[in-house]
Amino acid sequence: MNNKKNDDILCNYHGIKHIAVTDEECLIKEISAQYSKTGFVKAKFMELLAWARVGSLWPMTFGLACCAVEMMHAAGSRYDMDRFGMLFRATPRQSDVIIVAGTLTNKMAAALRMVYDQMPEPRWVISMGSCANGGGYYHYSYSVVRGCDRIIPVDVYIPGCPPTPEALLYGFMILQRKIKRQHREAAYDKLKQNTAPLSN
Ligand code: SF4
Repeated sequence: MNNKKNDDILCNYHGIKHIAVTDEECLIKEISAQYSKTGFVKAKFMELLAWARVGSLWPMTFGLACCAVEMMHAAGSRYDMDRFGMLFRATPRQSDVIIVAGTLTNKMAAALRMVYDQMPEPRWVISMGSCANGGGYYHYSYSVVRGCDRIIPVDVYIPGCPPTPEALLYGFMILQRKIKRQHREAAYDKLKQNTAPLSN
């Protein structure tokens, strides 16, 4: 039995109902409907900002070990990260996100922290693979950091040894969702502050 209807997302924006398969499709339909009706599009600034940010996540070029080969693979023509607006940058000053791709040794920990500190806010971190997540095969080694979250705060962990390029792309999608949610929560907190009852 075809149960596709149950999976459909029903958009209801300004009284116009559409059936869309994904959130993005829903958004495009809403924008087109609003534009064809009024000739312009209205949006909340925070939502516009989130939309721009998630569509242009520039990762820092920072490979540490074998996982970095999979990271490079994700940027190649087969997986083509560019189509999501993700372009690798060779400087932390132009990067939004750092992928810790590989085994982090004690010797490299200071360099990782320095690169992270040089990235402008807001910045995000993806920990890619078992080594970055918790030391992996080298967990008991004297020279390996048992998880890059001991050095910098991590937003998304990708399991695997090594994780596939698809897994990295999925990690990015999870990060995009997280950023959208953070913006929504920030806007809600601001609204709550503005509408808080006056204290005596
Ligand atoms: S998780 Fe596996 S593939 Fe990735 S750096 Fe460690 S040993 Fe290499």
